[in-house]
Amino acid sequence: MTVKKRIMLFIACAGFITSLLFSVVVFCELIEQPFAILDKELKQEAYRAVRMIGLGQLESALPPVDSAGYGSYPYWLKIYERDSGIILYQSNLAKLVNLPSVEPGSKDIASIVIPPQQIYLGQPKNNEATFRIRSFAITYAGRGFTVQIARSMFKLKDEIWELALGLVAGLIFSSMVLIVISYFVAGKILKPIGTMRNLIHNISDKNLGQRIPVGAGSGEFNELAVTINRMLDMLQYSFVKQRNFLFDTSHEMKTPLSTMRLAIDEIYSANSENLPAFLQENLSRLNNQVLRLERLVKNLLNLSSLEMLDNIKPETVHLTDLLTSLAADYRFLAEAQNIKMDIKLPDKLIISGDTDKLNRAFSNILDNAIKYNIDGGQVNVEGKQTTDSIVIEVTNTGPGIAENEKDKVFEQFYRVEKSRSIRHGGSGLGLAIVKRIIELHGGNVEMNSVQGEWAKLTVFLPHMYKQ
Ligand code: ATP
Ligand code: MG
Repeated sequence: MTVKKRIMLFIACAGFITSLLFSVVVFCELIEQPFAILDKELKQEAYRAVRMIGLGQLESALPPVDSAGYGSYPYWLKIYERDSGIILYQSNLAKLVNLPSVEPGSKDIASIVIPPQQIYLGQPKNNEATFRIRSFAITYAGRGFTVQIARSMFKLKDEIWELALGLVAGLIFSSMVLIVISYFVAGKILKPIGTMRNLIHNISDKNLGQRIPVGAGSGEFNELAVTINRMLDMLQYSFVKQRNFLFDTSHEMKTPLSTMRLAIDEIYSANSENLPAFLQENLSRLNNQVLRLERLVKNLLNLSSLEMLDNIKPETVHLTDLLTSLAADYRFLAEAQNIKMDIKLPDKLIISGDTDKLNRAFSNILDNAIKYNIDGGQVNVEGKQTTDSIVIEVTNTGPGIAENEKDKVFEQFYRVEKSRSIRHGGSGLGLAIVKRIIELHGGNVEMNSVQGEWAKLTVFLPHMYKQ
């Protein structure tokens, strides 16, 4: 689950639990209210009835009996003379329904079954009617009365039901609003992380100088940005140090190697005939190794200086001419191994780029196509122009490359078959140089092959170099 979803869920749950607790408290508080109102109403009615009876006006003050049998007077009312216990008055409802008597000053709730054909008070299907009963000891005009008064609670039940429904609906609504709000809040909280992630994602060895912007203040995200920037500083420092080390070392090795090769040449030209056979053999081996080392140092210098470049100085490059002339140079090498070279290029393939570097890149590609070929094999160079790039394909017969090694051949010092490469004097830097040069032009390279049959290196170059 993503952090955003987790924060959202956390806020929504916290909000839901708070709202639930709040609703329960509100419900408990409000549920008392209708009872208090009904109790007050019963008390007022009891006192009013006693006053009427004291004045001898009770019967006339109450509504007449209606067709339902108990009149529109909604109270169950019994008034007793306190001392004698004689019933002075009872309402029609009290005559029809028996309710338990309660002690004066106390309250009770009683549920009894009343068939609707007897009286219909709005009772539900199970005919159970619930009453709130109160009892009062009232003294009026020197006379003592005991009043038992009750009223059905259907209205009250409806109100409580409505209240509960209202609270549940409010709870559902507020939860939904909370989910929406928490989604946006989580997005807002995580926005700096998203910005950091995008920035870090775009940082590579080519733009190690980029840093995450640090805002004002001292929030956690700022601290994180400062820490990541410090880490990038160290990374950039060691990266540049390593690159410079490679460049400086190869540069330092260049002159001694040239001196060694010249010395060997001199010994050869001066004494070649007089030298004993074993010395001649050792000198030849030494010469080969020095030549190999020189090639390696040259490639290392090439690659490290290319790594140091951020862009190229573009000029108009006639790719058809460049490739045709290169192919002519390599034709002799190919013919020595009975390899046939076919070139199919459009008349004009023009791009903006660096001629020298492109020359170096395609030399390496053609060199490989001939080196890793078979006697009597074939090399095809094809070029075409698409809407967004120029595509050059160099295909050669030969051992090819296994599927899992296709991308690795562009790594530094990677050689598919060490012995084969060493035999050819390869150092494993040729394709790394090709890749870097093509990337500097804004393009990319791809290797395809059917092992044991052929290998195809494809170069994609944009028409215009964009910095
Ligand atoms: P260098 O080019 O530095 O002299 P190299 O040729 O060994 O040395 P790369 O050109 O980088 O190094 O090639 C890497 C490896 O990929 C080679 O060792 C070779 O095994 C394999 N390879 C490259 N091109 C081809 C090809 N056209 N056909 C088959 N294998 C190839
Ligand atoms: Mg090579």
